[in-house]
Amino acid sequence: MTVTYASPSSLPDTSGSGRAKRDVGRAMMFGAKGKCPSCGTGRLYGKYLKVNPSCPACGEELHHHRADDAPPYFTIFVVGHIILPIALAVELAFVPAMWVHVMLWTPLIIASSLLLLPPIKGALIGLQWANYMHGFDPNAIGDDQPAFEFGPDTSKQ
Ligand SMILES: [Zn+2]
Repeated sequence: MTVTYASPSSLPDTSGSGRAKRDVGRAMMFGAKGKCPSCGTGRLYGKYLKVNPSCPACGEELHHHRADDAPPYFTIFVVGHIILPIALAVELAFVPAMWVHVMLWTPLIIASSLLLLPPIKGALIGLQWANYMHGFDPNAIGDDQPAFEFGPDTSKQ
């Protein structure tokens, strides 16, 4: 079943900030599915983890995301908490040789990490988009410009 949404996942502004409130859960779900957090139809990724500069369906700029190291961090967290208890249970139940552990867990860890990275990164991009983080805020100063600079004040000279 294909679900299409006529409007972007935006709700009426209730914060008084002049920006439409965005549904965080829905944007994160779209991102986890590899879809644009705004419209839910365009593809988020061009390649495996390469985010499209803009949504091919609605044109929403997606290059503003700053997922950085967060997706690997959460992937390691999730994979570790799934695999480690299983590995300990297998060790306690069967006491297999070390090479059995290596042959079991190495491919499982690599495969599950590669499978989890795209949805976790997509959910984080959806979170950033829904909260107007980084360049997703239309009122923000450009990505390349810092909001303020340290150092001596040179404006009074
Ligand atoms: Zn879109």
